[in-house]
Amino acid sequence: LMQLSVPLNFIGFIYREIRQGLTDIEQMFDLLDVPAEISDRPGARPLKVAEGKVEFRDVHFAYESNREILKGISFEVPAGKTVAIVGPSGAGKSTISRLLFRFYDIKSGQILVDGQDIRDVTQESLRSAIGMVPQDTVLFNDTIAYNIRYGRVDASLDDIREAAELAQIGGFIQGLPDGYKTMVGERGLKLSGGEKQRVAIARTILKAPPILMLDEATSALDSHTEREIQAALDTVSRGRTTIVIAHRLSTVIGADEIIVLKDGRIAERGRHADLLSKGGLYASMWARQREATEAEERLRQAQEAD
Ligand code: ADP
Ligand code: MG
Repeated sequence: LMQLSVPLNFIGFIYREIRQGLTDIEQMFDLLDVPAEISDRPGARPLKVAEGKVEFRDVHFAYESNREILKGISFEVPAGKTVAIVGPSGAGKSTISRLLFRFYDIKSGQILVDGQDIRDVTQESLRSAIGMVPQDTVLFNDTIAYNIRYGRVDASLDDIREAAELAQIGGFIQGLPDGYKTMVGERGLKLSGGEKQRVAIARTILKAPPILMLDEATSALDSHTEREIQAALDTVSRGRTTIVIAHRLSTVIGADEIIVLKDGRIAERGRHADLLSKGGLYASMWARQREATEAEERLRQAQEAD
């Protein structure tokens, strides 16, 4: 038994490592073809999405039993509205996105979509209702068209082109020697982080899910790429329930509610102007970001003047 349990533990370890490393959950399950630890409840029904309201009710969660990561999180995203989650690194922001996708089950509390507890519905129906644009997209070793079509397998080439245009990546693809047939991924053309993210956005535009979960890239994109990505994200989130783990000021300013997460708790919440006038954690985060943006802008102007 010892001999058997050691390798099994080891496989479990590797599996968890890989699972953590790949942020695009949909792809992960496809690529590794491993069953999720989470299984459907007997008699689980498909999620019925009416408007796409999302609710977290006093959610407690721990990856390891002795260390609670979310310590009583409650918020509501009314249908079609946008909630931004901000906060220091390690606060638990990405964990919230993993839980909505039911990557893990929570310790206590409830996560509801249109009033249905996500533990009571089939995972397939839950995941097809949510579009995820992760921080770091992993592309398939296939054509760029295939990578976009993954959002909706019956999409025509025209649909793919249209989604790519809306995601502000159409021009770039057209400029490639093989256009939409260009091979990408590890063994093909390497795309930059911003390009990969726009492929993920195009895929999500095709999928047209009622609920969106965006984990904005933290890595410093140049301000031109950032503006393009912002425009693409605005297109896809219009009229959809959107939760965005936000790094960009522009996203945060327009959000219907901003949740400031710190050490697994909601430290502050409200709209941009209210939080600024409070002069707390959000206000200081914002001031810091503002300085960084202005410094970048000055640097760019100096370079252009050369
Ligand atoms: P954020 O996105 O706000 O930077 P995360 O939600 O990724 O933070 O992580 C919150 C906390 O949970 C961190 O302390 C992180 O180390 C921990 N954590 C994340 N994933 C795991 C995991 N699979 N096992 C154990 N701890 C984890
Ligand atoms: Mg994160």
